[in-house]
Amino acid sequence: MTNEMKDDLVLVTGAGGFIGGHLIGELRRLGYRRLRAVDVKPVDQWYQTFHDVDTQRLDLRDREACRTAAKDAREIYNLACDMGGMGFIETHKAECMISVLINTHMLMAAREAKAERFFYSSSACVYAADKQTRADVAPLRESDAYPAMPEDGYGWEKLFSERMCRHFREDFGLETRIARYHNVYGPNGTYDGGREKAPAAICRKVIAAQLSGSDEIEVWGDGEQTRSFMYIDDCLYGTRALMASAVREPLNIGSDELVTINQLIDIVEAISGKTVKRRYKLDAPKGVRGRCSDNALIKQKLGWAPSVRLRDGMEKTYRWIREEMTAPADRRRVYA
Ligand code: NAD
Repeated sequence: MTNEMKDDLVLVTGAGGFIGGHLIGELRRLGYRRLRAVDVKPVDQWYQTFHDVDTQRLDLRDREACRTAAKDAREIYNLACDMGGMGFIETHKAECMISVLINTHMLMAAREAKAERFFYSSSACVYAADKQTRADVAPLRESDAYPAMPEDGYGWEKLFSERMCRHFREDFGLETRIARYHNVYGPNGTYDGGREKAPAAICRKVIAAQLSGSDEIEVWGDGEQTRSFMYIDDCLYGTRALMASAVREPLNIGSDELVTINQLIDIVEAISGKTVKRRYKLDAPKGVRGRCSDNALIKQKLGWAPSVRLRDGMEKTYRWIREEMTAPADRRRVYA
């Protein structure tokens, strides 16, 4: 990347959210001087804001709003999406699918603005459910997305939008890059309210048990379902590397450190020094039985794969959530 490129305008959508907020921070650290951050949330509810970043509140389902957001942008990272963990996506399928408006209108606006590159944050939820029925699951290769049978609602929207990115590249020459993120976690993300994912939810439950003197937490499912979790620093590195690369096909960006939810709780117990009794709620939303990222393609294409150990990333995540939960009421921020 040349210094000159650092004067070009870069747009990040979903910048009031978890990954988008970190990405703006990372681009700033890398020396980008013209950054635009866009999100539909009121700015006082964003996880991170920066005084020297063009910060705009826009609803990107609307085509005109996308035009405003994309104006003069050379690179666009489209992370805006109405989403959450299993508890949200299993019960809000229509709302998840409406995010198709965001990506459609952002692609159209990017083309009109003659943007050079467009990044789309897809998800491991595009993978066919019948490849994820066992806890000792074979890691998911990029080719496993077809024949298509993704997660209902959210996953179908992601797979459709991936293909639209591909066709905008093929038909209109807009260079698109597509990451299939697998479970990203870290500080400055959702940890309560219904959209949180397992790592943050477990930290919150253990901390709440500590603070209230209770010994019990609720666990969704039997705790033997498996997942891999990627720390935010790896996500940012992979995102930037993919965007800068010549890789045009969708690429997994995820960890391949497979754990059960029970093992994830063991880790939080060790970090917090608190042992909890686990009350398994078997009828709660659980998602697929097992899911792990196959990182052969990313290693081949980028010569790199996520490597932050779960224990290390969870330590930082736990500390941030604990600080948030124990801050005095007048310093506590409300994240909708
Ligand atoms: P997040 O919910 O923290 O951030 C998404 C942001 O998009 C939110 O701040 C939300 O307000 C904003 N948004 C929603 N609708 C909008 C609209 N109409 N106009 C403008 N902004 C709107 O989620 P995140 O974890 O930061 O995820 C970012 C992207 O990565 C999403 O596309 C998500 O699907 C994808 N992804 C995330 C994960 C993960 O584990 N976090 C995994 C796979 C894929």
